[in-house]
Amino acid sequence: MLDQIKSLANQYSEEIISNRRHLHMHPELSFHEKKTARFVADYIRQIGLTPQEGIADTGVVVLIEGKNPESKTVALRADMDALPITEANDVPYKSLNEGVMHACGHDVHTSSLLGTAKILHALRDQFEGSVKLVFQPGEEKIPGGASLMIRDGVLQNPAPNGMFGQHVAPNIPVGKVGFREGLYMASTDEIYIKVKGKGGHGAMPEYNIDPVLIAAHLIVSLQQIVSRNAPPKIPCVLSFGKVIANGATNVIPNEVYIEGTFRTMDEVWREKAHKTMVKMAEGIAEAMGGSCEFEIRKGYPFLKNHPELTRRAKNYAIDYLGAENVLDLDIWMAGEDFAFYTQHTDACFYRLGTRNEARGIISSVHTPTFDVDEAALPLGAGLMTWLALNELKTV
Ligand SMILES: [Zn+2]
Ligand SMILES: [Zn+2]
Repeated sequence: MLDQIKSLANQYSEEIISNRRHLHMHPELSFHEKKTARFVADYIRQIGLTPQEGIADTGVVVLIEGKNPESKTVALRADMDALPITEANDVPYKSLNEGVMHACGHDVHTSSLLGTAKILHALRDQFEGSVKLVFQPGEEKIPGGASLMIRDGVLQNPAPNGMFGQHVAPNIPVGKVGFREGLYMASTDEIYIKVKGKGGHGAMPEYNIDPVLIAAHLIVSLQQIVSRNAPPKIPCVLSFGKVIANGATNVIPNEVYIEGTFRTMDEVWREKAHKTMVKMAEGIAEAMGGSCEFEIRKGYPFLKNHPELTRRAKNYAIDYLGAENVLDLDIWMAGEDFAFYTQHTDACFYRLGTRNEARGIISSVHTPTFDVDEAALPLGAGLMTWLALNELKTV
């Protein structure tokens, strides 16, 4: 079976790459993946399968049934959205949509999963159970396409026994993949603070309430959440990347705006931290004579890979690629909406190496020069097939 999958992945390689290039040239922003969804559905029909369209508006789901299809189901997920970035790469498949770019590799995930669909369809007489392919919208934008797909029933009829998602990794050389059991990625919450004081002449602070000084105290004090309040065993990050105090050398402004991000890996602590931050900020602002509006926009939950499923997946990957090409990943404080699936079903999110230093393919995701070594595409398609078919065999 392994050789058969590798040979089919090889055989379909050009088609998988051409699909990726088409998607890369026609990127669409989160929750606007209309043409992308149509492209996915048309390709699925062309293979001979039946897509379910319109799930969470632009999501597409495909059920590939083997023999005894109700015995077990494994789900495989790809995200389809692009980012508001202008592509700076000079490549024949450069984005044709000005200001929109597949800079997070979701074109790779989608075309790779389309390749997996074709391989699985060709092998449908040779496996037992079903594989559910999930093409979801809006990974890059709150509330996350994954949460909407779940709301619309993607994890029912049939409910998957296990689920895999793969993501490109520009820090891992092409030909290699990475796994991590247990805690892997962080919950992400956006913080918006409006500090209110009373502006006036900088020479007469006694008549004003300085929101700049209050903001400075808040930024310093709120770090206590991480250093003194967070349980030491739980990873936790608080960063403020935007502070606007738009006065002048001699003008104290009325208000200061602060924006930041709070990330952690435990839902109980996350809730507690939210309350503590608000209480602390309001108390400090009030003690200094001002006030503050503290808004937290909740993002994705933290991502925990199911330990046994991930251990098995890593071993399947070793069979497929060799032990030297399967790496262990570190905890990463970025967020990913695949986390929603991990809350509902046994799931594993792993990374697919796309780096090629010799060819200068080294840019990070979410940058205008991001690109991938396309040799990762047939590998991603074949490996996902291999993971799914092995997992279907476990009881
Ligand atoms: Zn991204
Ligand atoms: Zn991404």
